[in-house]
Amino acid sequence: METSYADRHIKSLSLAKTCAELGARIKTIMYITGLGHHELVRLFFVDEHSAPRGRPPASPEWFHQANLIEKVEASIFCSIFERMSALGYGPAEALVGAYKTYREQCSHPPRISFDRAFDLVCHSKGIWAQQAQHFSLNVCRVCHSQYLAAFGESTSCEHGCPFCKLLKRYPSDKRVQTTFSPHSTPQISPTDFGLLAAFIADDAAGAAKS
Ligand SMILES: [Zn+2]
Repeated sequence: METSYADRHIKSLSLAKTCAELGARIKTIMYITGLGHHELVRLFFVDEHSAPRGRPPASPEWFHQANLIEKVEASIFCSIFERMSALGYGPAEALVGAYKTYREQCSHPPRISFDRAFDLVCHSKGIWAQQAQHFSLNVCRVCHSQYLAAFGESTSCEHGCPFCKLLKRYPSDKRVQTTFSPHSTPQISPTDFGLLAAFIADDAAGAAKS
């Protein structure tokens, strides 16, 4: 059965509401839903000035100076996004579902904001606000985790994998220990997914539907 305009519009409004609740700026919601600026301000913000402001994220520049924890968390988010896309979810649903799942896995305030997550997807897929692909997910040959890397970067170098660096640094770095405490991750057996599996909820698909 063909979806009516009313159904599509209600779906867009619901998606916009979720994005606003996750802290998205108006421009981000416009890209994701296709809804107009005035309608979004009228429905989801007290006025234009109450919406999140400031410079929009520019992830290629940010990524090169990001610290280890930020790179790990960006990789975790992008890996969950990829996994949900592979399950058949569209980019908007996968973005929202992956961001909710990522946030649930954090035992601390998340380092990746919703706008940053949106921008990472834009630069990884060349969609919405970006035409070109600047990032890709590489698979580490040592720990088998998927990690975010500059597009075209060699996959043979284990020095690019933030998860391997995290494991090396863990015993001596209090900040890393606090951020990724053993109690914050579910107990799992080693699997082919590598370290990343510890951070991914089994119900990733469920999160997108909630
Ligand atoms: Zn690794």
